[in-house]
Amino acid sequence: MKVVVSHDVDHLTFAEHWRDAAVPKFLLRGVVEAVRGSSSGRALMRKLRRLAANRAHNLEALLAFNREHGVPATFFFATGRGRDLAYGPRRARPWIARVLEQGLEVGLHAIAFDRPERIRWERQRLEEITGSPVLGVRLHNVGMVDNAGRLTDAYAPLFAQAGFAYCSNTYGVRDPYRVGGLWELPILITDGYTFRNNSRVVNRTLRQAQEFTLARLGQAEAAGLHHVSVLFHDVYFDPAFDPLDRWYRWLIQELHRRRWEFCSCRDVVAHLEKDAVAPPAAAASGEQR
Ligand SMILES: [Zn+2]
Repeated sequence: MKVVVSHDVDHLTFAEHWRDAAVPKFLLRGVVEAVRGSSSGRALMRKLRRLAANRAHNLEALLAFNREHGVPATFFFATGRGRDLAYGPRRARPWIARVLEQGLEVGLHAIAFDRPERIRWERQRLEEITGSPVLGVRLHNVGMVDNAGRLTDAYAPLFAQAGFAYCSNTYGVRDPYRVGGLWELPILITDGYTFRNNSRVVNRTLRQAQEFTLARLGQAEAAGLHHVSVLFHDVYFDPAFDPLDRWYRWLIQELHRRRWEFCSCRDVVAHLEKDAVAPPAAAASGEQR
């Protein structure tokens, strides 16, 4: 089994949100989670300290952890603004450079999904920073994409026309599949569905989240999947968001324990393309997947 770990970068600073409601929502969620006991008072204090320090990402710590644990993650950065994502290409540039320095892949965290000229604009802005073609796209916010993938089905052709090779928007126990001229890489596990059970706030404990995750991993193995994806938002890789940070550390260890092979999204797509063009005899000869 090959597994892709990906990170959506939704925030860099708190100050960038001066025109939207992201900060009040962040505070409200923090208080509700502390009152309900799904997060500790200490975590709430850490959230407030982060707010005072105007620090809304954990890219450095996550890059270091991933490097140490052999996880070649794919990072999705935005160049557009909307739906409580507000940093823009200028602020993203140094962080994209840090990711690229480590030989990792950068994809587009798209705001636009139904206007072709906006989709192309967002991709071009990102390519001006990366200096190379951007192959992948994931919509912000994935919650707006229904699990049956109907939105992906409807808009995938626009992303294919804009030059993307893959998207990763659906949530399900399923191998990558072709849609609208590109590959869809379904997300098997995401922090959101793991910790928020039909809720806007965290309402599962670490233990419950681990049980949920183990069941999901078991389903993927039982289904005989070849390629699966994990989505973890970098913002949660800090004790301010305990227990999400501990869950991510545990998950990476669990995937290693199962001997799942870590790779990037572009590796998966290269593999799928190779299989797609391989003659039937070669495909049937037990070629290593
Ligand atoms: Zn996002």
